[in-house]
Order: sequence, then C-alpha cells, then structure tokens
Amino acid sequence: MSKCSSCKNESVYFRTNEGRHYCKVCFSKNIEKKVRLTISKNNLIKNGDKIVVAFSGGKDSGNLLYLLHKIFKDNPNVKIVGMTIDEGIKGYRNITIDKCADFCKKLDVEHHIFTYKEYFHTTIDNLAKDNDDSMCGFCGIFRRYLLNEGARRLDATKLATGHNLDDETQSILMNVLKGDLMRFARIGPIPKIKRHIKFVQRIKPLISIPERESALYAMLNSIPAYFTECPYAQRNALRMETRDFLNKMEERSPGIKYSIISSAQRVAPFIEASFKKSNIKECETCGEPTSGNICIVCQTMKKVNIKLSKSS
Ligand SMILES: [Zn+2]
Ligand SMILES: [Zn+2]
Repeated sequence: MSKCSSCKNESVYFRTNEGRHYCKVCFSKNIEKKVRLTISKNNLIKNGDKIVVAFSGGKDSGNLLYLLHKIFKDNPNVKIVGMTIDEGIKGYRNITIDKCADFCKKLDVEHHIFTYKEYFHTTIDNLAKDNDDSMCGFCGIFRRYLLNEGARRLDATKLATGHNLDDETQSILMNVLKGDLMRFARIGPIPKIKRHIKFVQRIKPLISIPERESALYAMLNSIPAYFTECPYAQRNALRMETRDFLNKMEERSPGIKYSIISSAQRVAPFIEASFKKSNIKECETCGEPTSGNICIVCQTMKKVNIKLSKSS
C-alpha cells in the first residue's frame, strides 16, 4: 500500500505529472489550494463581487459551488449564489433540480431557477415532439442566453462555470481542428468575450483541475453529482475522439494538458488582435447583444415556431 508523500497516511491518488502520492486530506487541501491560486493569480474574484454559479448538478458545478462557498463564506464582501437552468426535460431535470435546491439549502446558499418555459415559452420536451433536429443545438443556444440573462437579472458581477482542465483543452484543440480561431476569445480562466454592457463576465475557477481529480474530489467530499444523463444527449464524435487523444498523450507525457492551456493563453491575444473588431449591436427583437440585427435565439425561436405551426 502506497503512502501519502506529505503525511504518510494511506494514499488515495497518485499524480503522475508530479510523481506524488496524496491521502484523502492532503488531496482535498491541494485541490482547494489550486483553485485559490487560479482565483488570485488571475484576479477572478474581488471584494464587491456577486458571483452567480451555473449549477447544473453535475460533479464540476457541484464542486465549484462548494469550493467558492468554502473559500468566501467568511468574506462579507463577496456573495456566492447558485443558479440552475430548467430546460423542461421530464425524467431528468425535474429530478436533478430538487437535488440542486437541497444542496444549496445545505450550504445555506441562495438558489435561483430560470426556466425555458418562462423565457422561451416552450420546453425541450415540447420541441423534441415537433422537431427531428438534434435537441443539443437548440438547448445550447437557449442555455447560453438564459445563463447570461439570469446572471444579469440577479445583478451578478460574474458568472462562474465549472469547466475543468479536460473540458478546456478539448475545446482548444477542437477549435484548432475546426479552424474556428475566433473562439479563442472564449478560452482561459477569465475569457475575453466581445465586451458589451449586457454580457456578464464569465470566470472558470476550476480550469486547472483535471476531470479525474474533479470526480475524486466530489466523491471524497460528498458533493452531489447526478449521473442521470439527459435523454436527448447526443455523442459529439469529435469531442470524444479529442478526449481520447488527449488522454493518451497525457499518459505518455504527463503535464501536456497544462502546456496546451498555457500555449493557447499566450497566443490568444495575437489571434484576437488579428480579427477586425466587429461592432456589437442590440437585437431588434429582444435587445440582447448580437453581431447581426437579430440574435441567434430570436432566429431560432422564429424557425421553431414555423416548424411547430407546420406540424400541428
Ligand atoms: Zn497526506
Ligand atoms: Zn433577440
């Protein structure tokens, strides 16, 4: 049986890129230290901030809410709030949403729910009945919109999401593979999205935590992580292959994922500067920021309504 490299208790984890063993206690402490460091090094959170955490009920967002609460609970100048989006998916969201509310109650953190039904006058269940298209496309567009809108309604200064090291490196590599370099503006712990007063600044405090360490942290700290999969979830083949490739490379050369992030962060400003700044306007229909005249959500709603009326 291996022993912890720091305290000689029983090891529960071996971190390959450091060559160090961790016991339960030292592992959790180390994860907390890494998250604190990401926050302080990148100036993610400061006094006066109201942080809305996008809390879906998965392990990453559960860890994020738990850790931010733990780090800032004694600081009266930083407020942490949980927010869950209800897409209207029976047998999935209606189950997890109660558990999200319970966890917030347990932490004594304010919890808010925003529903597709209220904002888009429909649910994913309804859309699926009348459309053959993949629901993930609709859902992604609606979710991005509602996360921003919800955070703004709650007067958030920042919107925190649970993206981990693996999510981020996969996205970086996929942007390169697809030639979508504009999306480099979305990478990093505090991504530079096109600035507009109606966009709430996003932050990713868990960006230095690998997927498997996030899963272990959730398990060791009894963070609720609901494994119920969305019934409409579709395998994204490119993401799966990118994930497998990165894991294989990481096994061969430990630390490679960190190198990808730091390389991407270093080139991102140059990529951004090479694109002509496009003017952000406000959508003619709903007033949300958009690069065109009508935002993608209003375009989608229109498209869906036409389809809905055709089929009924
Ligand atoms: Zn230890
Ligand atoms: Zn719009």
